[in-house]
Amino acid sequence: MSFFRRNIVSLTVIGCITAAVLTYFYKPEYFDFIVQPSARSLYERDLKKYPDQLERWNRLSKMAINDSVLSGDSYSEIATSTAQNSFAAGYMVNIAQGESLLATISMDSIQPSWILEAYNNNGMLLESAIANDSMLSLHIKNGEAQRLKIVVQSFLNITDTVQLKVYKQPLLEFPLAGKGNNAIQSFWGVARDGGRRSHEGNDIFADRGHPVVAAADGRISSVRDRGLGGKQIWLRDNLTNSSHYYAHLDSQLVTSGQRVSRGDTIGLVGNTGNARTTPPHLHFGIYKTGGAVDPKPYIWQVPIPEDSQSLPLRPVAIGSGTGANLRSQPNANGGLIRNIQNDTLIILGNSNDWYHIRTADSLAGFAHKSMIRLIEE
Ligand SMILES: [Zn+2]
Repeated sequence: MSFFRRNIVSLTVIGCITAAVLTYFYKPEYFDFIVQPSARSLYERDLKKYPDQLERWNRLSKMAINDSVLSGDSYSEIATSTAQNSFAAGYMVNIAQGESLLATISMDSIQPSWILEAYNNNGMLLESAIANDSMLSLHIKNGEAQRLKIVVQSFLNITDTVQLKVYKQPLLEFPLAGKGNNAIQSFWGVARDGGRRSHEGNDIFADRGHPVVAAADGRISSVRDRGLGGKQIWLRDNLTNSSHYYAHLDSQLVTSGQRVSRGDTIGLVGNTGNARTTPPHLHFGIYKTGGAVDPKPYIWQVPIPEDSQSLPLRPVAIGSGTGANLRSQPNANGGLIRNIQNDTLIILGNSNDWYHIRTADSLAGFAHKSMIRLIEE
């Protein structure tokens, strides 16, 4: 009897698994609440009914992933997609330890018809942008030095123009209230004590008594007064997995073990310790497991890029003039990819005075507007 019962149980289990597999195969959308597919997977699922379209889409994706243009610290572009030329482009960006990366696409419509993704150097998808009102945005903030690839692709057969922004932001709050980059007057690695040691932090200047704020949420691990740092505070920060060191304070306004929030005033600027002969300043340091690291990228403020101004646009153009160069960045310092004189080019968009273009052999880059002759269609 139990022999039959065991078989019935096994058959039922096998039946259920088979049903689940078949359902997943034919109706994958039933499993979206578990799998949470990316915007790309959802779109590709829709395209499966049209193999030639799917092939075109995949070809464009591959092109974008292989692009090697650089977006720099702060980039904006007006990107255009037309029925003939669907937008697909990739942007490389090098992130320092302590920096985060934001990418946004502002659209006119609330229904997103663009895909915005970040990949790591091994081609692994890190994040796919989430739509909110008429904005797609993603934020990579794992804080490690890395090379990222941002991929932007419009759905096929749409005509649309969007504003793309790719820019860096520091992971931490600036440690002096209301101050910014130009208050940092001594950087990492500068010689100290006649070259006997190197500066393991940033010196940020302000008047005596200026509020020093917690650069992140965290716990005060130590408040002490001794040695080179004089009156100092140590803060344990789990966001960047590091300890912050605030030194030469005039007064300490927190106690050891206290929890603080980003932006809370924890002390006041002074010149205690070995700073007693120099003007008041905060020595700000960051310590990771391997020792001190350069705090600058953690706090260096990068302005949010302005919207790119639009240039006249046609789907196709020709590189004209002897200086017609395809560059890796939208400025004259961008590395030369190759000369494009007399080449017929597809225009993807523009970053201010530089057209973002693609050559017939799929190379993407930038060319100054004076080197581009638009062709009437
Ligand atoms: Zn210092």
